[in-house]
Amino acid sequence: MSETSNLRIAVLGGGPGGYAAAFLAADLGLQVTLIDGERNPGGVCLYRGCIPSKALLHVAKLIDESRHAKNWGVEFGEPKIDIARLRSFKEGVVDKLTGGLGVLSKQRKVQYIQGRGSFENSTTLRVAKTAGGDEVLSFDRIIIATGSRPAVVPSLKLDTPRMMDSTGALDLKDVPESLLVVGGGYIGLELGTVYAALGAKVSVVEMLPGLLPGADRDLVLPLHKRMEKVFESILLNTTVAAAKEEANGIRVTFDGADVKEREKVFDKVLVSVGRKPNSQIAGLEKTQVKVGPRGFISVNAQLQTEDPSIYAIGDVVGEPMLAHKATHEGRTAVEAIAGHKVAFEPNAIPAVVFTDPEIAWCGLTETQAKNENREIKVAKFPWAASGRALTIDRPEGMTKLLIDPHTERVVGVGIVGAGAGELIAEGVLAIEMGSLANDIALTIHPHPTLSETLMGAAEVFFGTSTDIYRPRR
Ligand SMILES: Cc1cc2nc3c(=O)[nH]c(=O)nc-3n(C[C@H](O)[C@H](O)[C@H](O)COP(=O)(O)OP(=O)(O)OC[C@H]3O[C@@H](n4cnc5c(N)ncnc54)[C@H](O)[C@@H]3O)c2cc1C
Repeated sequence: MSETSNLRIAVLGGGPGGYAAAFLAADLGLQVTLIDGERNPGGVCLYRGCIPSKALLHVAKLIDESRHAKNWGVEFGEPKIDIARLRSFKEGVVDKLTGGLGVLSKQRKVQYIQGRGSFENSTTLRVAKTAGGDEVLSFDRIIIATGSRPAVVPSLKLDTPRMMDSTGALDLKDVPESLLVVGGGYIGLELGTVYAALGAKVSVVEMLPGLLPGADRDLVLPLHKRMEKVFESILLNTTVAAAKEEANGIRVTFDGADVKEREKVFDKVLVSVGRKPNSQIAGLEKTQVKVGPRGFISVNAQLQTEDPSIYAIGDVVGEPMLAHKATHEGRTAVEAIAGHKVAFEPNAIPAVVFTDPEIAWCGLTETQAKNENREIKVAKFPWAASGRALTIDRPEGMTKLLIDPHTERVVGVGIVGAGAGELIAEGVLAIEMGSLANDIALTIHPHPTLSETLMGAAEVFFGTSTDIYRPRR
């Protein structure tokens, strides 16, 4: 038995970072306590993030396709929406997954405590139990996995059910006639897509000149075009200066050079302007943990904080605030604690926007390459040349590879189109494996699939694609 096997570990927060860390630690033979406020593990991702939003987006896509089907000679009529049943479908998915995690936790003999943890010192936690009473517990190592919460705009902080954050929007109390989404990031666009499919007139306001500021513009363009049809309006370069509740809605005042209508009343407003790390943990000042200026806990490549007994993972340590990043950090932290030689040094973390079309990218983006003055070649394969894209009537997509011109290594991948979120995994693997463009070009992809567009983009790089014609220079 290794000398680490008797270590007692606490994991504070049961999200995709925390529960993965706790379960792996138990599998490695450590004694594990997992603390979270919910009845079962799951965190934001399962209870009020990734999972409920994707369940609703699945239904939104079905509604959209049923409307679109008349172009293919099939008419379904206007869908009738039973909001209570839709809500219970979504809640059923969440219950199944979180209940499953509860079972997995018991099977691993992880001590799960429902409650709120605070620090007494670097190795001691006080847990205020949901069931009542406090418990003070000591550990050899503590992993902070407390995640993040929606950022709040003080001028939009109205105490009314008409004003929602992402959690309120996912509750799906009703479908408002009009909805203003404040923030053109992925959460706002995904939830706006859901409400628009259910029949709300959705407007989006974004203070920057484009939607999804982190993504390359050529990826955003097809999405923007489609959203212009699905949404009532997209207001760019515009901020919300004020919001006031009135008898029949929230009166919003817009500000910005492009603003045409300065005031408008909306049934409901969804504020999704980013997320804040949950690093204000009671008693953290009694440890040596350092919190940076943006509220993220500072960690090294092993996810160890400035306090040798304390590790931190997931949204609370930094961008990108994504579930799969949190999980991998959780695994790395546990392996480091168990004495393995590990570091969290990914070459590519995929980002997916589950709108319609989807956008996904990994590794270097063109914007980043430009900002960092990095020499790259970009090879694009338009989906209009993909047989599969035409069979599903989605020719607006595009797949691109960013390639180092000297080594011919793939350093970035960007995809816009139906199912881009599934396709990007090949790009991540290619980058992590150090693939050359030729590796992708020479890999036989199944036909007819959208995955062929990755191979096609590699062929475009070499000028050998037979699916598109480029005159010889
Ligand atoms: C609407 C929405 C959609 C999203 N969609 C996606 C997506 O499609 N893909 C994706 O990768 N990411 C998505 N995310 C982001 C994803 O949810 C987060 O990146 C992920 O949940 C972070 O995991 P985590 O383990 O760091 O923490 P979290 O999931 O935030 O979990 C932290 C847990 O710790 C608990 N906690 C906090 N403080 C304490 C304390 N003192 N004591 C005890 N417990 C505490 C919290 O209550 C929470 O349960 C989405 C987020 C939202 C809001």
